[in-house]
Amino acid sequence: MKLFMTFIFFMAFSNNSLAKQISISFDDAPRVADGHLTGEQRMRGITQALYKHGVKAAFYVNSAKMDNDEALSRVVFYARSGHILANHTHSHFNFNNTDLKTYKDDFREAHNRLHRFINYKKWFRFPYLREGNTQEKVNGFRQYLGSYGYKNAYITINNYDWYMETLFQNYAKTTSQVDLNKLRNFYVEELYGAIEYYYQMGKEVSKRPIKHVLLLHENDLAALFLDDLLQKLKKNNWRFITPEQAYDNNFLANYKTKKIWPNNPGRLAEYAVTKGMTTGLWHKSCSEPYLEKQFQKALTKVPESQW
Ligand SMILES: [Zn+2]
Repeated sequence: MKLFMTFIFFMAFSNNSLAKQISISFDDAPRVADGHLTGEQRMRGITQALYKHGVKAAFYVNSAKMDNDEALSRVVFYARSGHILANHTHSHFNFNNTDLKTYKDDFREAHNRLHRFINYKKWFRFPYLREGNTQEKVNGFRQYLGSYGYKNAYITINNYDWYMETLFQNYAKTTSQVDLNKLRNFYVEELYGAIEYYYQMGKEVSKRPIKHVLLLHENDLAALFLDDLLQKLKKNNWRFITPEQAYDNNFLANYKTKKIWPNNPGRLAEYAVTKGMTTGLWHKSCSEPYLEKQFQKALTKVPESQW
């Protein structure tokens, strides 16, 4: 009996330690929609995919982008659909080129405009993930966030979906018909590669299960292929957790990097440095030339029959 109990405990523990848990977040809402899809089509595509898979996501808002009815109504719709809204600054300044006072003012502007929205959380996602390039900025802004009762809404899975979107929108302008199957494959495979990469990193640097936070952007590619990405995650035994679950009761949520980063790689990679990891903090797809090459291969390769 004792042996059996030990076995059960071992199984429960090992399953737990292997658990693949992920929450989904979208930055830059409401991003300008003047390309392949209208703002409303984008909004429907994203929310329908989330609904289909029972996923509650978080949208990080730049309040300056809510300067027209269409964009504002998208933000309201996300909140009314049960998703979280949170602060991504008013103007999306790059902290590296912005002084502390200006950055604080811009955060506060977003807070003032957003905090009465339903489903608003006092969570802050740094634009470009940059948390300050001097000790004074890092400490000063951490303190300021705390004084407003905010938490740093960090990510663990970094990727360049924003650049995939740029490649797609530029390509769509020059082509009458984009091959959506090829585009889907490109988007899902590149993102899934990044997800598995950070999953492995988590396993290597911590014995505790990592509650992952995927960074996406509120863009047309998400509207078109989020359903496929979520399906792929399910098929590979990932379990969707809410953004609250991701940040709750989690050792990574309490970890604060001591290093001053000109470019932060995301919290898991920052933590990995303390465990001796020095290279590979960014997945290979966090590179514009790499993605250009992959996009070219996936979308514009001339079929062999035309050689
Ligand atoms: Zn952003």
